Amino acid sequence: MSVAGGLPRAVERAVVHRCDAFQIFAKNASQWRRPLLPPSEIREFRAAIRRTGIGPVVSHASYLINLATTIPGLRGRSMEAMGDELDRAEALGLLGVVLHPGCYTVGSEAEGLELIAKGLLELLQARGRGKTMILLEHTAGQGTALGATFEQLAVIIAKMNNHRRVGVCLDTCHLIASGYDICSPEGYTSTFKQFGRLVGFDRLKVFHLNDSKKPLGSRVDRHEHIGQGCLGLDPFRRIVNDHRFGGLPMLLETPKEERRSPRLIEVDPLDERNLETLRGLIDGADGSSRSGRRGSGWWRGSGGSGRSGRSDRSGGSGR
Ligand SMILES: [Zn+2]
Repeated sequence: MSVAGGLPRAVERAVVHRCDAFQIFAKNASQWRRPLLPPSEIREFRAAIRRTGIGPVVSHASYLINLATTIPGLRGRSMEAMGDELDRAEALGLLGVVLHPGCYTVGSEAEGLELIAKGLLELLQARGRGKTMILLEHTAGQGTALGATFEQLAVIIAKMNNHRRVGVCLDTCHLIASGYDICSPEGYTSTFKQFGRLVGFDRLKVFHLNDSKKPLGSRVDRHEHIGQGCLGLDPFRRIVNDHRFGGLPMLLETPKEERRSPRLIEVDPLDERNLETLRGLIDGADGSSRSGRRGSGWWRGSGGSGRSGRSDRSGGSGR
């Protein structure tokens, strides 16, 4: 959700989209600079969340953060920035901060994973009394991006001594791009069997629901509107009706309407269409339940945002 006009405006936008979970950038995603959050804005945001009953809310960490790097300057800035993300999320009462684990610059994959885990553990240990989680996002595997396999996510979690405040975010676009075929029934079953074995469903805290412009195994991360890309509708239908994911926040990061002002507190017609598509896939949504269970009780569909770059505070480009 765009936070243009201040963080509390994101809650108002979630209300008009009838969301019960959403994602924000707690600061500009493409800048290191970070003005302090005014205490009045924090108070107003928390009050709006309480009043509306919306949640969980997560933030998406800046794309500049790279904890896998061996470049000392970048590592230092990344640690500082991720610490700041965690502090903001804590102050706002968010479930957690979604983070792309990082890209290794030199050295090996193993060294990159080690650096990520070490850095994140240090940040959590320095905030021992906090509640907010680090949510490692499974990635498309572009370039040297780590976290594109369940094995890599499992290594990071293990090296963080299975810290209770580390969770995982799965993005349907990244799954297909990184080579997990969730489109065929067999592929879907085997993908989540692997996930359960390697990472565990108790670690799964958030879904990003995006279709993909690029096909299976492309390792290219390009989000598309629900049902209009290489995924089609079937994998989304399975996910929103899968009892293992009941109650999880499912957030959209699909493109937003280009010509609208990000400051508006009105329904974005593209978000609305994607949400309607997803809501329509829930068993029983059309009155002809296949399972006999109405899905809408747990459905937490949301007009989250990230990729469009309009979730940040300034309305500037996010990526
Ligand atoms: Zn995502």
